[in-house]
Amino acid sequence: MVSTQSDKHLRLAEKILNEYPQCIRGLKFFTLECGCIYYYRVFRNGLIGPRLGIYRDRKDSPCEICMRPQEDWEGRVVDECVVYTIAFEIEEV
Ligand SMILES: [Zn+2]
Repeated sequence: MVSTQSDKHLRLAEKILNEYPQCIRGLKFFTLECGCIYYYRVFRNGLIGPRLGIYRDRKDSPCEICMRPQEDWEGRVVDECVVYTIAFEIEEV
């Protein structure tokens, strides 16, 4: 079920990393059936950190399913993807 990194994931990673300080080593994306992407911080040792946020395409309306806080989102995951940020660190001065 783990896919390769898509352009969408890489664009999203770049956007997220611009919003957060450079301490982030990696991001894990879970794409849900409804089209939302939940993203979590990944530590250098591979452990998954706290959820950083939920991404949804701007053209789509707000997700009614994900607005319900008790919803079991893990059962609706259709794709997982990890992006490491080593490539982005090169740009730091
Ligand atoms: Zn959703």
